[in-house]
Amino acid sequence: MAWNHHRHLELYYAVSGSGAVLHTFNPRLHADQMAYIANHANDQILFFDLSFLTQVQALAQRNQSIKTYVALTDRAHMPEAHSLPNLHCYEDLLDAETDGFQWPDLDETSASSLCYTSGTTGNPKGVLYSHRSTVLHCYAAALPDALLGSAKDTILPVVPMFHVNAWGLPYMACMVGAKLVLPGPWLDGKSLFELIESEGVTLSAGVPTVWQGLLGHAESHRLGFSTMTRTIIGGSACPLEMIRSFDEDYGVQVIQGWGMTETSPLGTTSAFKGKHLHLPKAQHHAVQAKQGRGVFGIEMKIVDREGAELPWNDQSVGDLMVRGSWVLRAYFKDEGGSPLVDGWFPTGDVARIDADGYMQITDRSKDVIKSGGEWIGSIDLENIAMSHPAVATAACIAARHPKWDERPLLIVVKKTGAEVTAQALLDFFEGKIAKWWTPDDVVFVSSIPLGATGKMLKGELRQQYANHLLGEVAANA
Ligand code: AMP
Repeated sequence: MAWNHHRHLELYYAVSGSGAVLHTFNPRLHADQMAYIANHANDQILFFDLSFLTQVQALAQRNQSIKTYVALTDRAHMPEAHSLPNLHCYEDLLDAETDGFQWPDLDETSASSLCYTSGTTGNPKGVLYSHRSTVLHCYAAALPDALLGSAKDTILPVVPMFHVNAWGLPYMACMVGAKLVLPGPWLDGKSLFELIESEGVTLSAGVPTVWQGLLGHAESHRLGFSTMTRTIIGGSACPLEMIRSFDEDYGVQVIQGWGMTETSPLGTTSAFKGKHLHLPKAQHHAVQAKQGRGVFGIEMKIVDREGAELPWNDQSVGDLMVRGSWVLRAYFKDEGGSPLVDGWFPTGDVARIDADGYMQITDRSKDVIKSGGEWIGSIDLENIAMSHPAVATAACIAARHPKWDERPLLIVVKKTGAEVTAQALLDFFEGKIAKWWTPDDVVFVSSIPLGATGKMLKGELRQQYANHLLGEVAANA
């Protein structure tokens, strides 16, 4: 349970390389989920950062399997007061050892690491990765049209090492011999900007919400990046405006990536094809706004509700299925039975795919807005809203409607100091989408709830605002 730093990196290699399983543990989860996960995984030794001491002490009260606790620090920083049984100091443990450890020869199909899904519905499920799948995933991630790793790069994974293996970057950076820069707990815009500049970062990776802070800092202080040329953005849809700003204001190319805990995680990246290179910038950005083409080793298809395969025509929208060498076969301990359908993993994402094979997520299937029997993709609507200069963040949810069952409702956080009316925002959609996709109303809020992995918690928004339009319809009747 740790931030991205050198001791965490040592554990990535030392734990798995010694034949044990590295279970990366997300400290942002709810205490109940933490307790469930540690018991379910039968964790034995918990390595943790002192900033998580409170969470770890609470977890210790509810867990029997963890026999040893190790604080990731040196002797001088060990806590004086704590309630943990059998607490060790990481640096003391290392000092007591020689460099002569005999690394075991492991079967490539043995387990190397374990990660739990975010578990927004029900209990989190574990995904156990093998050494083989991790290495194959790493080869694919390093490919030129995937994450393009090179020994010439200085790579900054802001994406946490406690979730989805930090998109494989701790492995990929070492495989290609890149310099790796780790941000620790300092993820605000100012700290990240200074780190990028002082370490000469060329390639960074993070979720859109973190990059919003970085761009906000750069914009308000009129700063530019002197070494960073590429950034990988994934975890949730990257707003078009962020792609444009990185490119036109800062000369940084966004590579959007899509993946899941269940896919190790890399599935697709939005790298250009040769035919795109000479297109105008706006068309570049449209390509980057898609989640992209499958990296070699991953196959995709979209299917309708009956399971029939849909064409790759950029129009048909269906459930996204994937398969490949680093896609799970079953959840840890066979939780929930086999998730596969004829060998394909149903991702729970809804997408379209164009003739060039670029996939675009339109929604999580549970977030799709079903208006009069037709689907409306909330991500398209959020993208448009977020390209309005007054909008910082937007979430589009399904609100109940007496006639259409559900209609889109836009929840918006305005940029600091910016003003816009609900009507002006709704007018902004005109001509950009089919008229019937236009949201029925806008609710302005001061913040949108985020989950433990930086994704918008639309379930919470739905609980709060699902009846918003019913009141409105009643009032207008
Ligand atoms: P997790 O297992 O926590 O990484 O969550 C995986 C889910 O995150 C996917 O199934 C998608 O719904 C979402 N996701 C990841 N990357 C993207 C992306 N680039 N665009 C839209 N959604 C994404």
